[in-house]
Amino acid sequence: MAKTAPNIDHCSFCGRTRNEVRILIAGISGNICDECADRAHEIVIQETPKKHGLNLKIDELPKPTAIKNFLDQYVIGQDEAKKHLCVAVYNHYKRLLQKDTKDEVEIEKSNIIMVGATGTGKTLIAKTIARMLHVPFTIVDATVLTEAGYVGEDIESILTRLLQVADYNTASAERGIVFIDEIDKIARKGDNPSITRDVSGEGVQQGLLKLLEGSVVNVPPQGGRKHPDQKMIPVDTKNILFICGGAFDGIDKKIASRLNTRVVGYRSADNQAKIDRDNLMQYILPQDLKAFGLIPEIIGRLPILTFLNPLDRSALRQILTEPKNSIIKQYVKLFDMDGVKLEYSEDVFEYIVDKAIEYKLGARGLRSIVEHIMMDAMFEIPSTDKKDLFVDLEYAKSRVEQFQTVLGAAE
Ligand code: ADP
Repeated sequence: MAKTAPNIDHCSFCGRTRNEVRILIAGISGNICDECADRAHEIVIQETPKKHGLNLKIDELPKPTAIKNFLDQYVIGQDEAKKHLCVAVYNHYKRLLQKDTKDEVEIEKSNIIMVGATGTGKTLIAKTIARMLHVPFTIVDATVLTEAGYVGEDIESILTRLLQVADYNTASAERGIVFIDEIDKIARKGDNPSITRDVSGEGVQQGLLKLLEGSVVNVPPQGGRKHPDQKMIPVDTKNILFICGGAFDGIDKKIASRLNTRVVGYRSADNQAKIDRDNLMQYILPQDLKAFGLIPEIIGRLPILTFLNPLDRSALRQILTEPKNSIIKQYVKLFDMDGVKLEYSEDVFEYIVDKAIEYKLGARGLRSIVEHIMMDAMFEIPSTDKKDLFVDLEYAKSRVEQFQTVLGAAE
């Protein structure tokens, strides 16, 4: 019998005709409809468990020291916070590996909270660690969250992002890690929350509690606000690791008063000798978070509390040139793409750090100062045949002075 040509008007998988499906994609010797393509995609995801961290093996996991070595290439200092995170990630893997054992020892998760002034590297640490993770990871911002029913995003939308990075594979998302940035922004504003409704404060914390403590949460697949006719995806948060970060502006005063000292001045000569008043964050305890406005239940669900150090002069100087993708290395690369060899005199780096300190811009300021210095050169050089550029102190000063007013305004 002669071979028949494939029927081009049918899906070769489900057999439905072109009229019965939305899209029919034609192949060389068959067709596939949109629904079968979707289903095939799901199967591909299920069959690639490694990508989703579903078949981890302990020997293949990066050890805490290896994770830290990797972090050290990108993040200057902050050893305390780095160590906590490395151990937490490693233990997170272990918890995922644990089988139902008879010894009834169940490794529980230890969510983390990192406290440190803005621009000291909290997000950078989280982003860098994400590069070497074998589980889905996402960063969400707590500032957009409001209590259900109010303008803003519902708390469950935190998990939407995790589902998205896990290609909507729920099993994979349920083993992921979420970094919640700016957690301090949902602190209770006043001491008495019952007088006015605090829609972005305590209510959000109560909602967050549900996620942190491990429960099945209905997640809107597209995020934003829930609405009644939307199909929800149930996600169990029991094994999701939460890492929270926040600047907690002003918490140093609460720490100081607890330590029975003041930010300026001292109580006794003895106290003064022991307490490093330039870095009170290192003494942070859970009760300081409570004094700041986090509810005790939330604090209890974030058992690992760690801090980031303020960046001193030498840290800023290192940040400028040492990380693998340091600001200066990025500019050298930008010019290199135009065939221009960019070099700096050493004192320019010192000058940039001086300016960042003078204008209290921290690490974020380094980039804007370098940008000001390089702006004109970046504008003009691509249209010339110049092959090198040497930035000396005089040139750097002349550029920065031109923008002094802008920097001054940012103070
Ligand atoms: P935050 O603590 O507010 O989350 P970020 O991690 O976003 O701060 O830091 C802002 C920028 O400052 C980073 O993108 C990075 O360029 C630089 N930076 C801050 N801290 C460090 C650090 N410890 N090492 C290297 N770069 C840093």
